[in-house]
Amino acid sequence: MSGQHNQPKPTSARPIRTPAELVESGFVTAEDLASSIDAVAERHAVGISPAIAALIDRNDPKDPIARQFVPDAAELNVAPEEREDPIGDLTHSPVEGIVHRYPDRVLLKAVHVCPVYCRFCFRRQMVGPQGLGTLSPEAMDEAFAYIANRPEIWEVILTGGEPLMLSPRRLGEIMQRLDAIDHVKIVRFHTRVPVVEPERINEALITAIEASGKTAYVALHANHPRELAPSAREACARLVDSGVVMISQSVLLKGVNDDPDTLAALMRAFVETRVKPYYLHHPDLARGTRHFRLSIEEGRALVAGLRGRISGLCQPTYILDIPGGHGKAVIGPDAIQQEEAGCYRVCDFKGGGHAYPPSD
Ligand SMILES: *Cc1c(COP(=O)(O)O)cnc(C)c1O
Ligand code: SF4
Repeated sequence: MSGQHNQPKPTSARPIRTPAELVESGFVTAEDLASSIDAVAERHAVGISPAIAALIDRNDPKDPIARQFVPDAAELNVAPEEREDPIGDLTHSPVEGIVHRYPDRVLLKAVHVCPVYCRFCFRRQMVGPQGLGTLSPEAMDEAFAYIANRPEIWEVILTGGEPLMLSPRRLGEIMQRLDAIDHVKIVRFHTRVPVVEPERINEALITAIEASGKTAYVALHANHPRELAPSAREACARLVDSGVVMISQSVLLKGVNDDPDTLAALMRAFVETRVKPYYLHHPDLARGTRHFRLSIEEGRALVAGLRGRISGLCQPTYILDIPGGHGKAVIGPDAIQQEEAGCYRVCDFKGGGHAYPPSD
C-alpha cells in the first residue's frame, strides 16, 4: 500500500470520490497523490463509502480493507496478459445492457456506477463516471424486448455496476417489467451494497425487489470477514427475512484473503449471516491488477485446505472466468484422479490417498 495510515483522522460521513478527498481523509499522502495516485485515478474511478472508510484500520499499512479500495501506485503497471474486457462481456452482448453467454440466463446491466470502486474490479474499464453510463429508456426497452422474445431465458441477473444503486422507484419499474415476462422465474442481484452501504437496504428497496413476484436471489460480494460488520449483517437479515435467498461471491486476492484463517473466517461469517457461500473467483485479468493475483496452484491449495477445516456449509466453488468470454470453469481442487479405466485414487481431507473401488 502506498498510502500511510498512521494518522488517525475522524471518519467522514461523506463518500470519498476524488483523489483530493483521499488526501483530506488521510488515506493517501500528498506526496503519493502527486507521484502516482492522481495518475491512477485518471485511469480508474475512485470511491470509498463511509461504511468502508470506517472499517479501515489506518494504523495498519497492510490493512486488507484499504487494499481493496484505496488506489495504489501498482495499478499503473499493466501486465501483458491483462485486458480491457477480461471476461469478454462485449463479445456476448447482443443489445446494449444485456450479456447473454449461457442459454438460460442473461446479465442485465442497467447502471455502471458503484458506491465503491474495488481496485481489482473485472469491469473497471466499463464502470465509473467515465464508464458505460446508465441505460437510456430506449435501450431499456430493447433489453426487455430481447428477454421477452426468448423463452429459454429462465433467469435475469442484475449486475453492473451496482444494481442496488438504482432508486427504489427505478428498480421497482424494472421489477414490474420482469413480472410481466412469464418465462423468467428467477431474478438475481449481484451486489456489494449490504456491505458498503447497508443503510440502503431499507423497506422501499426491499418492496421494489419483491415487485417482480419472482424468486429473488441476492449474491453478496465480500472478500474479508471484517466486511461482515454488524450493520452489514443486519442489512442481510432484512433481505433474508423478507424472503430473499442470499449467496456469496468473493474474489481470492493476494494480501486480502489469501490465507487459510481469513478465508475460513470469511466463509463462516457468510454462513452465520444466512448467506450460502457460492463462488470464490480467481482474480480476472483486469488492467493494473497483477499485485492482487496469486497462482492457480496457490488458490487450489487454499481451497483444498478449507475442506477439512470448516463445515461443508462453508465451502465455496473455486471458479475461473475464462478470458475471451468462454464462461466460467470450476478449477478444483480435484479430489479424485483416474489411474486406469474404472480405477481411481481419491484424496481424503487430511491429504491421504485411497483406491476407489477399494482393492481389498
Ligand atoms: C457469471 C455469469 C453468469 C452467472 O453464472 P452462474 O454460474 O449461473 O453464477 C451469467 N452470465 C454471464 C455472462 C456471466 O458472466
Ligand atoms: S462493486 Fe463490483 S462492479 Fe463495482 S467496482 Fe467493485 S467489483 Fe467492480
